[in-house]
Amino acid sequence: MHTNTNLENPVCTGPRNILISMKKIVIAIDGYSSCGKSTMAKDLAREIGYIYIDSGAMYRAVALYCLENGLISKGEIKEEELRKALESLEITFRKDPQTGLPQTYLNGTNVEKKIRTLEVSGQVSHVAALGFVREAMTRQQQAMGRQKGIVMDGRDIGTAVFPDAELKLFVTASDRIRAQRRYDELTAKGEPCSFEEILLNLQERDRIDTTRAVNPLRQAEDAIVLDNSHMSIEEQRKWLADEFRKATAE
Ligand code: C5P
Repeated sequence: MHTNTNLENPVCTGPRNILISMKKIVIAIDGYSSCGKSTMAKDLAREIGYIYIDSGAMYRAVALYCLENGLISKGEIKEEELRKALESLEITFRKDPQTGLPQTYLNGTNVEKKIRTLEVSGQVSHVAALGFVREAMTRQQQAMGRQKGIVMDGRDIGTAVFPDAELKLFVTASDRIRAQRRYDELTAKGEPCSFEEILLNLQERDRIDTTRAVNPLRQAEDAIVLDNSHMSIEEQRKWLADEFRKATAE
């Protein structure tokens, strides 16, 4: 299994403002499904000139691979075949030159759109519950953070991937608000969807993610909790900038 972040052309370059600090840290953002972690992580990384890694995209790419290669049949994952396939699976991130946004590639193909479908969302938590899948992803994620200067979001970043991260955030919001945001996002993109289906999917993913045996989603003891149910993006951005300043103050 190979992943790289195309570090010579990092996902988030070109710091836009003065939130720059000499001290490079690791920022771990965990939390429930669809609570805006990726958006805040991406924005923060751009602001401070850090690399942003969407660890969920990696699990989604593995789930997509399973779906496209018959490794999920009648709800059962063919674990041995997946274990072998993982050895040569290549997940990379590249920046879209037009939008500047990170794109996920699976074995050289851009799968950014495909990994966001409800079909993949319906399978990803089962795939992500497998210990050998988590081990492979965690190894790659740790390698990406070795140089620091990274913002990574997911479910186990502050607890298992970077237990020593200098700044750990745990994000939450009510499930109906999270489903509404996701619904609005998909509708704005012109993608037909049902609010109830989205709500059920995120509740089910939360259930699997918090109850799985290996590295379940939980708040790290030293994480700062952010409930953004009633926060605007701008309020959240300011809050985050403050936490970053505190964490990097010499
Ligand atoms: O972040 P996103 O919702 O795209 O993640 C998709 C799924 O991948 C999650 O529901 C979870 O099952 C899994 N995941 C995980 N550990 C991570 C990131 C994501 O188990 N660090």
